[in-house]
Amino acid sequence: ALFVGYRLMKGKKKLRLSALNVMEAACTESPVDLENLKLLELIGRGRYGAVFRGCLNERCVAVKIFSSANHQNYTNECSIYSLPLLQQHDNIACFLMADERTTANGRPEFLILMEYYSHGCLSQYLSAHTVDWLTCCRMTHSVTRGLAFLHTELYRGDQYKPAVAHRDVTSRNVLVRADLSCVLADFGLSMKLTGNRPCRPGDDVTMAISEVGTVRYMAPEVLGGVLNLRDCESALKQVDVYALGLLYWESFRRCSDLFPGEAVPDYQLAFQAELGNHPSFEDMQILITREKYRPRFPEAWKEDSLMLRSLKETMEDCWDQDAEARLTAQCAEERLSELALLSTHTAIHNHRYTHNSW
Ligand code: ADP
Ligand code: ADP
Ligand code: MG
Ligand code: MG
Repeated sequence: ALFVGYRLMKGKKKLRLSALNVMEAACTESPVDLENLKLLELIGRGRYGAVFRGCLNERCVAVKIFSSANHQNYTNECSIYSLPLLQQHDNIACFLMADERTTANGRPEFLILMEYYSHGCLSQYLSAHTVDWLTCCRMTHSVTRGLAFLHTELYRGDQYKPAVAHRDVTSRNVLVRADLSCVLADFGLSMKLTGNRPCRPGDDVTMAISEVGTVRYMAPEVLGGVLNLRDCESALKQVDVYALGLLYWESFRRCSDLFPGEAVPDYQLAFQAELGNHPSFEDMQILITREKYRPRFPEAWKEDSLMLRSLKETMEDCWDQDAEARLTAQCAEERLSELALLSTHTAIHNHRYTHNSW
């Protein structure tokens, strides 16, 4: 059932998408031979895979390699990428193909080939660069647009896309395009919420399922073990939106226009100042679930402008302690497009204000 949507070519054990966009269709029409795949450089290591920049027949690609211990993660990520309509969306990472092969020491390994994003993930990009207001709005808007699409159940002709929860929204699972628009990636933990096999309370898998993700970005109800499994669909979407709020905070802290006349603070992951680089589940539980602590807004954001008020409110409405009070991803998307519009005017005003005050 995991393989719905793509064919398993038995002979060469090659998995290929049945619905690919035109460009990909052209390059996968004849079987792609991975013998020509060259791995050039390790570019990322997450919890489940090692990611390499590679080259396949002159084309630059990213190759995510899973060991057999992470086979489940691999099949899950493949099954999400192969859902109808997913690859047509601008803010979902571009999947090329999946394959398995045997390493020199005889172990199987599993490969996902995807488009290579030279800026890497959002947290890498923001560590190295500050961004102006409009760019920051556009980047966060594009991630949100990807998530809103993922969360939506869609019927297009005879195609059906279930609603999907990402379940590991972090600034490391968002990739940055050359034009700085962003795509959602790393669907290893994602789950279909509607259609054939949505999650249901009491499922064997559901309990395990309610406790995955990256601890740093876990919502209070996940840390507290009180995720509302009676409405699994909404509950898991709300968990994604909580993490999205943290991602906004990380992004706008690197927005040069929000620190007029002063240095932009260095990039920080959410709760890095409070809990360091490897927060434990228990530390997070105390801070987030019990103390209801949230990222602090910088001093520079104390100024009472419409722009800052709207921005802070949007973040707070995403990471609300009450999961049901949180924005939907669709609503967050709208908020961010409004922020982007607001800005041009207000940002210019702020600049003038700064100049005049010299
Ligand atoms: P994991 O499931 O192990 O977390 P990810 O898919 O999140 O693996 O990839 C780990 C890291 O590798 C990402 O955070 C990112 O820095 C880098 N990476 C992943 N895919 C790409 C890509 N297509 N282009 C560029 N960098 C990538
Ligand atoms: P970071 O981005 O801060 O490095 P990681 O994803 O590496 O975060 O996770 C930090 C630690 O938390 C790891 O040792 C990982 O094994 C552990 N961890 C991850 N998910 C869970 C979970 N659901 N429950 C308990 N511990 C977890
Ligand atoms: Mg990842
Ligand atoms: Mg992952």
